[in-house]
Amino acid sequence: MNKYVSTRNKNISVSASAAVLSGQASDGGLFVPEDIENLKLDYHEVISSGDFKEMAKVIWNHFFDDYGRDVIAELVERSYTGKFSSDKLTPLVKVGDDYVLELYHGPTSAFKDVALSALPNLLTKARDMNEVTDTILILTATSGDTGSAAMAGFSGVPGTGIVVFYPEGGTSETQRLQMVTDAGSNTAACAIRGNFDDAQNGVKKIFREIDHPSEGVSLSSANSINIGRLVPQIVYYYSAYKQLLDMGEIADGDKVDFVVPTGNFGDIMAGYFAYRMGLPIRQLICASNKNDVLTEFLNSGHYNRKREFFKTTSPSMDILISSNLERLLYYVCGEENTAKYMKQLEAQGEYTISSSELAEIKGIFTGLCASDDEGRAAIRKTFEEEHYLMDTHTSIAWSCLGKYKKKDGVPKVVLSTASPYKFCSSVLEALGLELTGSDKTDMEACYEYTKAPIPKGLAGIWERPVLHSDVIDPSDMKQYVIDKSAQK
Ligand SMILES: *Cc1c(COP(=O)(O)O)cnc(C)c1O
Repeated sequence: MNKYVSTRNKNISVSASAAVLSGQASDGGLFVPEDIENLKLDYHEVISSGDFKEMAKVIWNHFFDDYGRDVIAELVERSYTGKFSSDKLTPLVKVGDDYVLELYHGPTSAFKDVALSALPNLLTKARDMNEVTDTILILTATSGDTGSAAMAGFSGVPGTGIVVFYPEGGTSETQRLQMVTDAGSNTAACAIRGNFDDAQNGVKKIFREIDHPSEGVSLSSANSINIGRLVPQIVYYYSAYKQLLDMGEIADGDKVDFVVPTGNFGDIMAGYFAYRMGLPIRQLICASNKNDVLTEFLNSGHYNRKREFFKTTSPSMDILISSNLERLLYYVCGEENTAKYMKQLEAQGEYTISSSELAEIKGIFTGLCASDDEGRAAIRKTFEEEHYLMDTHTSIAWSCLGKYKKKDGVPKVVLSTASPYKFCSSVLEALGLELTGSDKTDMEACYEYTKAPIPKGLAGIWERPVLHSDVIDPSDMKQYVIDKSAQK
């Protein structure tokens, strides 16, 4: 059996299902498989197993070994059958000399769907396996993307419910409608009179103050530090490799580079697991926007959150504390140093790893960043030259690819994390077109100009009935959760 330990203390050790169930370790660390060497796996075993879902079964089994093979097979089917609009789930597209792995064909048109389709099923099973009888009520604060993907993921999953708080006026109209039209019987979205931090602080306060908002209900979170969100993301690195082989673009064993638009370091950390498991990866290029805390860290070993926070046109990467980086630190620096660095980050807002630790990280990671302007130029250029339309997050990665690029013959795969229609107004501007005044007409204008198909889940939101119209003050969030939990 795999042991999952806290990144800060190996004595805190639980089974895979218990790690999924608790989300975070009791000392504030994140759960990781204790020994990464134990996770080595002949990649042929994964890619020869079949399609995305079959590969998912192999990988989930490998990490979540206390669930059992039959259970995992059932959970994978439940997570992905009929939910994605591409039969490959994460199709690979050739763009110029490079490749784009499209991770956004799930229910809410963003890459978080890959993980948030999976987590609820892993969680509800973990609840049964660990003899928990309480209903699990998920609380999330969102500035947009996570909220709708989490609602879509938890919708209708037995033994769970979800309440999402978002800042009133702080999301795009598209993002708001994706949440407030969600038809799940166990989902709720509520606007907060305040900004994202108010929503986030409100949720944190509730977690501090109450465990059981009502009889038979326990609180939990769906954020990206849960190992049950990370592992499902490993699968698409294998899927990309398999598709390159199937397309005849690489020979078996050839190494590949991945360029990953990064915020909380979850997406790219999944790539690190794939690398350590044995998938032929040469470099993982960590692409950041103007919030370049990771670029500095990967180049200097100095992590410094004491810097200005920028709002960019790739908002899901606007992050100063990349939580999942702690998992990399555990494997490179060990638990003691990880605990030390995290303490320094909390107390002083910065830490510096040793030069040997940095050298090891640089062996696989490259840190690059790009500005909004560079991203805009990338959107326009790839559309005009290759007739390929990408969103603002993908365009940051594409720009970083341009900076990284050496003509070295190693195939380069850019991970695309959102449909261009999800951030349509910014995309329209990048193309040099006039904004039309509303998200709906912007989408139509974007379609008219590019003929890129509008995802089904986004095309219909304007007509769907609004089912969640609550707006409250931050001070009323706790009572709101108590009331909602009593209805479960
Ligand atoms: C969440 C998100 C990211 C960043 O992914 P991390 O795992 O947090 O690094 C990038 N792009 C989009 C569109 C996202 O929603």
